[in-house]
Amino acid sequence: SLPPEKYSPIEHACWKLGQPAPYLHLARTFDLVEGEKGKIKAASMLCNMFRSLLALSPEDVIPAVYLCTNKIAADHENMELNIGGSIVTSAMEEACGTSRSKIRAMYNSLGDLGDVAQVCRQTQSFLAPPSPLLIKDVFSMLRNIRNLRIGAMMRTVLPALAQAVVLHSSPNFCNKGTTENIKEKLQCLSAAVVEAYNILPNLDLLIPSLLNKGIGFSSSSLSMVPGIPIKPMLAKITNGVPQALKLFQNKAFTCEYKYDGQRAQIHKLVDGSVCIFSRNGDETTSRFPDLVSVVRESCKPDALTFILDAEVVAIDRKNGSKLMSFQELSSRERGSKDSLITLDSIKVDICVFVFDIMFANGKQLLDIPLRQRRKYLKDLFNDQKLGYFEYAEETTVEADDASTNEATLTKISLFLEEAFRSSCEGIMIKSLDIDAGYSPSKRTDTWLKVKRDYVEGLNDSLDLVPIGAWHGNGRKAGWYSPFLMACYNPDTEEFQSVCRVMSGFSDNFYKEMKEFFNEDKILSKKPPYYQTAELPDMWFTPELIWEIRGADFTVSPVHQAAIGLVHPSRGISVRFPRFIRPVMDRRPEECSTAADIADMFHSQTRKMDVTHHD
Ligand code: ATP
Repeated sequence: SLPPEKYSPIEHACWKLGQPAPYLHLARTFDLVEGEKGKIKAASMLCNMFRSLLALSPEDVIPAVYLCTNKIAADHENMELNIGGSIVTSAMEEACGTSRSKIRAMYNSLGDLGDVAQVCRQTQSFLAPPSPLLIKDVFSMLRNIRNLRIGAMMRTVLPALAQAVVLHSSPNFCNKGTTENIKEKLQCLSAAVVEAYNILPNLDLLIPSLLNKGIGFSSSSLSMVPGIPIKPMLAKITNGVPQALKLFQNKAFTCEYKYDGQRAQIHKLVDGSVCIFSRNGDETTSRFPDLVSVVRESCKPDALTFILDAEVVAIDRKNGSKLMSFQELSSRERGSKDSLITLDSIKVDICVFVFDIMFANGKQLLDIPLRQRRKYLKDLFNDQKLGYFEYAEETTVEADDASTNEATLTKISLFLEEAFRSSCEGIMIKSLDIDAGYSPSKRTDTWLKVKRDYVEGLNDSLDLVPIGAWHGNGRKAGWYSPFLMACYNPDTEEFQSVCRVMSGFSDNFYKEMKEFFNEDKILSKKPPYYQTAELPDMWFTPELIWEIRGADFTVSPVHQAAIGLVHPSRGISVRFPRFIRPVMDRRPEECSTAADIADMFHSQTRKMDVTHHD
């Protein structure tokens, strides 16, 4: 960022006080950011752009943040349409008067439809020059068309905005002695804005509060709002019960069944309605009318508003209420405006297992330890209704017994066996009193998962994104095989390759993928945010997540997952990978992260060390 005495919003932003900001200002920033490899410099460019908006046209900050993050609305508003390359091409034909074949030829040489549009537009002659676009108009136009590809820049854009707010309100930035103070403020405000976004992921509410409070903003300036999903807390994997117990020495903890269904964040709103959100924050209420009605029946009359965390599992009521697999649940129809699921039309029954509460009757419970949150939960609800509305099965270990002694180990191992017998994936181990708050979007040591897989090879399966593929040979000629799979590094916002995968797919799946990855989803060149030394026949846009399981991890010169985290110039790869199933309900950026893979690699090494010493 330029220090204030060198920075002139008027000069740098080329528009006048009180006038709406020209879209060109944003477009120029995008152009600069695109050409900049360094993360810090790119963040400074965004910061400067926000500073000029703050100085000249603060009402354009919200649309600008949305546009920077490739969003037009909060995620839970489900405002997403897929307009592919062919519709954009048709629109360009009409708007620029360029033929389709010429557009295609230009696309082949330039590799990006945006660049093609720019060239067409520059060479187009007009009777009268069109008036300049304004940020607010572009944004409202996009809201009307309701289409944008969702990006993943929130982690860069929000801190850049926080930085702009601090600099905007600190004219003495360069005075000696104040620099340290400002740096500290910058860090605090960036952290506060990101934290606030995790509990209230809605820029229309967050940004006005940030602009209003300025450097006095903290995440407690905002409260969760029933009806807006918070980012769910996540769990770390472990090597098994002994390793998990080591992390809970002398701390009371609880073990719960880890149900194999779909996460449901259940909200009761001030108007009495009940809404359900997926792990992703998408609203899925219309898919679960039975869940809505059982939650309504189960809560006491004085439970006015709440936000619960739960798992919905398919259940076979005719067969002793046996829990069914995740696949069974995914076969339940998806409700939509056109085909509403009604209570009578339901084919796959469900039971909900509630395991946490984050908000109750207007009170935010995130900082309250789990043991007390459970009390809030049970105070708001009637007794369980078995097979319909249950609390997650649990067993508690008090601090005095929380050590790796034989009795505790046996107790937990038996509980794990019971969980497997009840068709669960394993168990979750959670701190009850110490560090036992609910941390939205965080994967911490206070929530651990123990799954069966650790005995069968990898501690956990990986959730990876297909980013490219080769043309198949022999029996697989005409299909894609193998696929190149990648994890995501949220710090650098890059997809990093982990392995090629060519086993575990059915022929039908190959056919589906051939259709799915059509020309709209094939990129003409490797994008700068794909990190790999592989050269597949084609690169795909990041669209899907697949669960992949392998034998073990190795350090690789070709694959670049977690590069720099385990080895300075090599990445981590998985040996003998095979496809398990598609992972629904998650955006590509929510696949396994580079840090997850580094953790798994380290825990594999620790396990090998232990075996070696034995
Ligand atoms: P996985 O593939 O293991 O489900 P994930 O990335 O979806 O991983 P994790 O944080 O690793 O999520 O594991 C927690 C998930 O387990 C939750 O998202 C939830 O859907 C599910 N779950 C089932 N039972 C529980 C429980 N008792 N407590 C917390 N989460 C549970």
